[in-house]
Amino acid sequence: METMNYQDFSKLFADSCEKNGISPLSETQVNTFWRFTEHLMKVNETTNLTAIRSIPDVITKHYVDSLTVSSMIPEGARVLDLGCGPGFPSIPLAIARPDLTIRALDSTDKKIRFLNESADLLELSNLKGYSGRAEDPKTRKELGQFDVVVSRAVARMNVLSELCIPYVFIGGKLIAMKGAKGDEELAEAQNAIKILGGAAKNHALELITNDSSEARCLIEVFKVKETPSTYPRQYSAILKKPL
Ligand code: SAH
Repeated sequence: METMNYQDFSKLFADSCEKNGISPLSETQVNTFWRFTEHLMKVNETTNLTAIRSIPDVITKHYVDSLTVSSMIPEGARVLDLGCGPGFPSIPLAIARPDLTIRALDSTDKKIRFLNESADLLELSNLKGYSGRAEDPKTRKELGQFDVVVSRAVARMNVLSELCIPYVFIGGKLIAMKGAKGDEELAEAQNAIKILGGAAKNHALELITNDSSEARCLIEVFKVKETPSTYPRQYSAILKKPL
């Protein structure tokens, strides 16, 4: 953290939010992000949590990128971050949106331990991590269903749909956070989405980073009918024969 002081952090974060059309954060929220950054950088020295190590990149590629979904999540929603890793997008959303109730799921224990430790440290009472596999019936029973499921960088859209759509209430939605090839992945997943009870719409956007911009797609899948009880299958079957 010697590379950046709080004033520079705060300014860069505010500029990046503005450039990307994200609502300004309060001073307290920026301070919470600062404390999270210190914690993330420190733990990342000994435990591999993220390959993004420079603070300006953490701000744009983790925090601001995570916050691009915020405006698509209704007030007071119950949200699941499926495959949250160390907490993206769940931690930025929990800080910026105290109205949300967020559960974060990952199959790697150490990542969930880090997330829960961070939630304690930052007093994020709206965020709780759970360690388990998405397709495991035990995980599904424990977590229940959600108004919104968000997921960033977890699996291709057809595989991701089978993991995520069962967790969505009818009337709710999945928001899949994708890179430039979102359109292609969505085309490939249309059949899966239909079988699983969804209807999809893609929103293309540019994430303005520090020195350039990167294409992003936010794929919104509305749940219109119940997912057949045969899904999700075991992970090996999902991968072997994606819908
Ligand atoms: N969303 C985070 C992490 C992406 S890496 C980010 O964008 O930074 C993908 C994560 O998904 C990994 O941490 C991996 O453990 C988790 N994951 C992959 N398949 C999963 C499954 N079936 N159930 C639960 N977690 C899964």
